[in-house]
Amino acid sequence: MEKQKITEDMLKYDELNKTDEAIRDEYAKCPEKIAFNKAYEKYKEIFNERIGFSSHISNQINALKSYEEALENYISAINNLGEQVEKCEDTSELELLELKIQDLDKKKNQRFYELKKYENESARLKKYLDSMNEQLKLAGQNYLIKEEEKKNKANEYKKKLLPYTNQILELEKKLPKSFVEKYKKLKGEGTGKKTYNRISTYNKDRGTCECCGNMIRIEVEEILTEIGDLTECPNCGRFLYLKD
Ligand SMILES: [Zn+2]
Repeated sequence: MEKQKITEDMLKYDELNKTDEAIRDEYAKCPEKIAFNKAYEKYKEIFNERIGFSSHISNQINALKSYEEALENYISAINNLGEQVEKCEDTSELELLELKIQDLDKKKNQRFYELKKYENESARLKKYLDSMNEQLKLAGQNYLIKEEEKKNKANEYKKKLLPYTNQILELEKKLPKSFVEKYKKLKGEGTGKKTYNRISTYNKDRGTCECCGNMIRIEVEEILTEIGDLTECPNCGRFLYLKD
């Protein structure tokens, strides 16, 4: 980095950004925001649980249908055999038919028993689904309330931030583009990696950067000869200037 001079505007820009970020951090930690996040998580949790549960119930209903169909098939097969019995005059064939009917009747009863079991289980599941829907409704109402509270708080913070945001934008028009770009990078814009104390001073006695504490290379030392000289720390990447 070339040598520049630190200006009042640069230091002011730094101060304004710090205040701006402190207000944003305060908002991120405010009870309204936390309560909203919790309400949202809760709602999402029940919502997802219900989706899973609904598909479970529809499987259950399909199974129930197939049991009902099987039962109907047995009943009509038994009826058919009953008609054959009425027409039958051969004793040995009649015995055979009776046996078949008995066998089918046993199977039919089994299906009937299974169907009842399924019906009970389905009724239980439906009841559970109802209670889940109720929970979801309450969680949804709570979510909306918390959202409203958060919105109000957000507006409050927006108003608080506005003067700083405006001043920051004004200064950005005046400051060197390279400075603003680098500053934003240190702030974590576009990278998400935030550096705190973006403007560091050079400790002439020790030959170190005050922020990272590292010894500064000779070439950098040569740049920082007069009070107010500004460059960049080769170790931590912060702005580095010589303070009186
Ligand atoms: Zn440094």
